[in-house]
Amino acid sequence: MLDGLKTGLRAALKKIVNSSAVDESLIKELSKDIQRALLQSDVNVKLVFQITKNLEERSLKETPPPGLSRKDHIVKILYDELAKLLGTEEQYVFQPGKVNKVLMLGIQGSGKTTVTSKLAKLLTRQGYRVAVIGADTYRPGALTQLKTMCEKTNVEVYGEEGNKDSPEIVKNGLKHFEGQSFDIILIDTAGRHKEEKDLLDEMTRIGKVADPDLALLIIDGTIGQQCYNQAEAFHKTVPVGGIIITKLDSSAKGGGALAAAAATGAQIMYIGTGERIDDLEKFSPTRFVGRMLGMGDIQALLDMAKRLETEGNEDRLKRISHGKMNMEDFYFQIEEATKAGGLRNILENMPGFSGMVKEDQVEQQEQRMEKWRYIIQSMTKDEKSDPDLINASRVKRIARGSGWPEHEVKELLKAYKNSKTMMKASKGRQMQGMLRKMGL
Ligand code: GDP
Repeated sequence: MLDGLKTGLRAALKKIVNSSAVDESLIKELSKDIQRALLQSDVNVKLVFQITKNLEERSLKETPPPGLSRKDHIVKILYDELAKLLGTEEQYVFQPGKVNKVLMLGIQGSGKTTVTSKLAKLLTRQGYRVAVIGADTYRPGALTQLKTMCEKTNVEVYGEEGNKDSPEIVKNGLKHFEGQSFDIILIDTAGRHKEEKDLLDEMTRIGKVADPDLALLIIDGTIGQQCYNQAEAFHKTVPVGGIIITKLDSSAKGGGALAAAAATGAQIMYIGTGERIDDLEKFSPTRFVGRMLGMGDIQALLDMAKRLETEGNEDRLKRISHGKMNMEDFYFQIEEATKAGGLRNILENMPGFSGMVKEDQVEQQEQRMEKWRYIIQSMTKDEKSDPDLINASRVKRIARGSGWPEHEVKELLKAYKNSKTMMKASKGRQMQGMLRKMGL
């Protein structure tokens, strides 16, 4: 994703890291490199100059805090300023104890229907009860597309084939779902009409009928800084509470799109990173910038480090990093990775895990985790601490106890062995790096 921007920013950063001394000319050079990288990604020129002005001024004026070298400090300033460009860390919270009605807005082709299905799945996974109303009556096939995608996640879609009156469908849909204790209802709307005015009129009418708690605007990231005008135009009709930028996987202008969306003052809540149903990520400016700069998923790792520290897991981490993990350590390691920001994130940032889970198998892996938990629970204490003890007859017993077939037990043992071998081969490099950071 955004490979051009990533390469440009990382090359600029490398110059700083490899330089022998930090002086004004080096900072100027860094500033020029950053400008070039951002402009190539279609970031608005005014925003670019603002950011590099801040970068230069702060780098020259500020004294690094104790414990940070001058170079580290400049990297941190760059990190801060880029994150600031992409908005605040504030997170939208759905209101508990009521139905949150969410209007999905966006022009045709922006990825609105795809995002509605993706979001329905993501929110369902987070434990919300989600329903969908398909009110895009303009585009043929929109309702079928929505139903097909949502079917896989068992999310109910209300729609009326043949009825062209979107506000009426929304009204009927809300009635249909009434009293069914849904937490969130996503409402897909039309993205085009013969006349732009008709579209805006319809949106206003739907806004009145639905009385939404949140209006989410979906914008195609390939249009770059044009995002600003599009967001402004929609905002005039229905106040936009959050933005979702799609197609960041296929756009060279993604940086510009994100910066422009953030500049409208609305929060970027999610980003679309591919065509598959799982390709939707919660957006966080600091995490995103961390990834761009190649600093890993900084926040996720810090969170993880904090959790590990407070839970007294030092021995466990030492065992894992020395390739001596037992079955429970193995399970713990994957569980932590999942908590730290999703397997996909971890895969991108911690190569040690990549042999274990291929990126397109994330969903299966999560289901597998559930299975593994039962299987591990059926092992004896000795088996858990020394899985090599598990022979054919023990596999049979564990399978019976857990309610899963033998081949599932064998699969778990194989994954455990692979992971252990890999940790040994990499000498737990990533884990050791983390341990050092945590002062262990
Ligand atoms: P709508 O007209 O706004 O409802 O748009 P659709 O949801 O039908 O999406 C239009 C096209 O964009 C489809 O071919 C989607 O597969 C594609 N699309 C949507 N989101 C993404 C994304 O994040 N990445 C990529 N590469 N394609 C996407």
